[in-house]
Amino acid sequence: MTTFNELGLSPELLQSINNMGFEEATPIQRDTIPTALKGTDLIGQAQTGTGKTAAFGIPLIEKMDTKSRIVQGIVLAPTRELAVQVAEELNKIGQFKGIKTLPIYGGQSIVRQIKALKNGPHIVVGTPGRVQDHINRKTLKLEKVHTVVLDEADEMLNMGFVEDIEKILENVPSERHTMLFSATMPKQIQNLAAKFMKDVLLIKVKASEMTVKNIEQEYVEVKERQKFDALCRFMDIHSPELAIVFGRTKRRVDELSEALSKRGYSAEGIHGDLPQAKRDKVLRAFKNNTIEVLVATDVAARGLDISGVSHVYNFDIPQDPESYVHRIGRTGRAGKTGYALTFITPREIDHLYTIEKITKRKMVKRSVPSVSEAMEGQQQITLEKLMEVVEEDNFGGYKQTAVELLDENDSVTLLAAALKLLTKEPDTTPVKLTDEPPLSTKKRRPNNRFSDRRRSGGKREGGGGRDRRSGFSKDRSGSRDGGSRSGGRDQSYRSQKRVREDFKNRG
Ligand code: ADP
Ligand code: MG
Repeated sequence: MTTFNELGLSPELLQSINNMGFEEATPIQRDTIPTALKGTDLIGQAQTGTGKTAAFGIPLIEKMDTKSRIVQGIVLAPTRELAVQVAEELNKIGQFKGIKTLPIYGGQSIVRQIKALKNGPHIVVGTPGRVQDHINRKTLKLEKVHTVVLDEADEMLNMGFVEDIEKILENVPSERHTMLFSATMPKQIQNLAAKFMKDVLLIKVKASEMTVKNIEQEYVEVKERQKFDALCRFMDIHSPELAIVFGRTKRRVDELSEALSKRGYSAEGIHGDLPQAKRDKVLRAFKNNTIEVLVATDVAARGLDISGVSHVYNFDIPQDPESYVHRIGRTGRAGKTGYALTFITPREIDHLYTIEKITKRKMVKRSVPSVSEAMEGQQQITLEKLMEVVEEDNFGGYKQTAVELLDENDSVTLLAAALKLLTKEPDTTPVKLTDEPPLSTKKRRPNNRFSDRRRSGGKREGGGGRDRRSGFSKDRSGSRDGGSRSGGRDQSYRSQKRVREDFKNRG
């Protein structure tokens, strides 16, 4: 464990960090901050949710000169949500030192941004297109910039921002400190680093260090057709405060969010095909707790710091272990306990084993709850709510009516009726979900029936299996080629272990 006190920070920063509630540095922070403070160019590679923003934000802000009201640091981020999120975090880190950070992004009034830029922020966090726009208009001057950060660099490259980034970097003095952060390290990033960075140090936090320890991980094996009812029952029992349900395809996300709404859950979906304005709206509603369930594809949820997520449901098992880690990283953040439940169809068990091997964690097997268990769960929730109201003791206005009602009816009947009224009973409204084919362990033939089906609407996002995740893509193709490779020894080890766990659970 590394505390921030050990990292050689100024009292102002220690105060902000303390104020933000961070107790110890995450591995990427521990490894990055001392190096960055020396001014060494570096690449930081670590999973979503591991605290990369503070890993560059802390040294970036340490290096700012409070007195000079001119832009000294620039951070490039792929989307406006991320630009806003990063700027918010930097403003928190800089609050006691008095460092101001301004987000600028496409879609916001340029006039407003020009005005805000005139107020003299020390740091600008922007999307590449809009930053480039301000440079062209000469409303953003980069002559005094001494530190540059490329955040979520893999996403920026995926989104085709390479040229913008290169042009921006050409406008920053070459005597500068450059840091690049990314969850994955494709060749393109290495090329960019070779071109624009000096004596780069690569700081990488390995996958096994990444799974957050405080996440309860479970799985359930269920037939494709029964998945949705199972999901509803689990949610009725868990009663999540804020949940994310992950679907494999855009079509899946659309169908799931519609089906959940039909059954009375407050759910909305996001995926890459939705217009930005709609995505913003959904995310805002989720963050404000006006919707409880966010249904998302991997791509749409990537990099977003949504806090307070109590439950993650992998309605479809992700294609690779790395996405699994990304997904469950949405819950259990910043010291809170999280919960993740993964659905598999019978043929997908090998994928689950692969994930367990990578994360070095076993998932506990659950069976599908019965209707009456779901019902009990819902009644429990009603009871809790009821007892809260009883404790608040603020219902005097209802007492007279209650007395009158009791004249004519017995109390058990009345209370049972009231409970029924307050309880969300398991809803069986029929819904329609298109079957999603199971993930195959066999090598895919180029024109098998799955690829046709997918073309007809269930298309994967983010260019499917394109080789953006260099490290893991090897693993992935390996397990497909290998067919039942993960059978044999591992499975028997596993079943022994299972038996022991089941035994323990019983005892
Ligand atoms: P990444 O960029 O790696 O996806 P973020 O920087 O968005 O991760 O951080 C994820 C969440 O963890 C944020 O809510 C952040 O405030 C929180 N966080 C970051 N560092 C720490 C820490 N040292 N202790 C506790 N929470 C942290
Ligand atoms: Mg980030």
